[in-house]
Amino acid sequence: MGEIDPVPLAAWLDARGEPPYRAAQILAGIHRPDASSFDDLTELPRALRAALADDFRFSTIRDSHVLRADGGATAKAVHELEDGQRIESVLMRYAARGSMAERTTICISSQAGCAVACPFCATGQAGFGRQLTPGEIVDQVLHWHRPPWNALGDARTGHYNIVFMGMGEPLNNADRVFEAVRLLNDPGRLGIGARHITVSTSGVVPGMDRMVDELPQVNLAISLHAATDDLRDELVPINRKWPVAEVVAAGRRFAARTGRRVSFEYVMIDGMNDSLDQAARLADLARGWRSHVNLIPLNPTPGSRRSGTPAAGIERFTRVLRDGGVTVTIRDTRGREIDAACGQLHAQLAGRSLREANAAARDAATTASS
Ligand code: SAH
Ligand code: SF4
Repeated sequence: MGEIDPVPLAAWLDARGEPPYRAAQILAGIHRPDASSFDDLTELPRALRAALADDFRFSTIRDSHVLRADGGATAKAVHELEDGQRIESVLMRYAARGSMAERTTICISSQAGCAVACPFCATGQAGFGRQLTPGEIVDQVLHWHRPPWNALGDARTGHYNIVFMGMGEPLNNADRVFEAVRLLNDPGRLGIGARHITVSTSGVVPGMDRMVDELPQVNLAISLHAATDDLRDELVPINRKWPVAEVVAAGRRFAARTGRRVSFEYVMIDGMNDSLDQAARLADLARGWRSHVNLIPLNPTPGSRRSGTPAAGIERFTRVLRDGGVTVTIRDTRGREIDAACGQLHAQLAGRSLREANAAARDAATTASS
């Protein structure tokens, strides 16, 4: 049993004497948000549904363990895949504020683990597992559509966003990530508009240039975290290959050629990258073109002694950027109580089966309600 792939599926259908058009129906059917099993694909004959269930998995996700935080506004899943690799996705709800309507963001993974090895990131601390397939990427979004979550309603109304900010470096898996984006866009599947999707990168310059040509409507976020090469070499080790100036130049090319605004992600680490000198240099890099800075207080991880910059330090840093002509937002960190920073829940569950973790969670819920 395995993931449904177009080539073996065509052969499988042929061997059973099924017409070739069934392949397209099945491949679209497994991405239907309102279906949870082959049996729900009533456009297929009953016998074919039963045969598919015998030979294929409906979803690439074998099991999931979900934790909630922030009064239910954040839910985080660890998903176990066919070969036992584990990845994470997070659902975050933001209440309506001022003129902004309520919105939902889903954060998904592009790789099991990550080879970039940023020292402050739990995924980076755990190392690289393997690339995810397009199906494994799309199935993380479908997870939140399907029972028991039913958390997303109709994707076509465009009221939720998808960010590639879970585990992995999406542009180190660019072909499969781009294919996943095309599947998510497909009007015959979820039909999610490209403008509702954001790819976040540690600065893989060739991948950023490919986005200009292949995904010009998708949002680009660059995890900068430092404005000078000596510091960024340490915080985002891929900087030794593509240094700050090259990464910023690629961001500027994206903005110039797509007309879109690029955001810089900047994790605020106490005493590390939060000096006013870094702020002034960051302002120099971000000023005068369509860019924006997102400051994110560090979510501390067990593998690092570092802590997040206190609020007053973030305020001082913000002021330098704003005085320097740069637009800035300060991101709230979601899910602290469930260790929701990328890769953390995965680390916490290492060595435990998800079945056992789910049973323990059910027991705890029963005890709490009795
Ligand atoms: N690899 C890509 C996308 C996944 S990481 C990238 O690095 O951009 C998504 C974001 O989470 C990045 O901006 C990353 O720096 C940030 N992040 C990782 N660990 C974090 C932590 N412990 N606290 C806060 N943000 C973190
Ligand atoms: Fe990889 Fe992004 Fe984590 Fe760095 S921050 S290790 S690039 S997932």
